[in-house]
Amino acid sequence: MTSEKRSSTEEVVDMELHCVRCQARLYVPLSQVSAVLASLERTGVAILICVCGQAQLIRSRRQQRHD
Ligand SMILES: [Zn+2]
Repeated sequence: MTSEKRSSTEEVVDMELHCVRCQARLYVPLSQVSAVLASLERTGVAILICVCGQAQLIRSRRQQRHD
């Protein structure tokens, strides 16, 4: 029985997306939100890793489509 588990409830941001694999709601820890948003700003996409290990590609809603 593991008595020690990091119980600090880290704040997360609801990405309003679901994993394509396990349908779990995707949340991003606040500590990583800035990195995700920076990636979105620069490239228009960012990658989230679901708890199941599935990588999710998310896209900026205000991306400009060129092609
Ligand atoms: Zn998943």
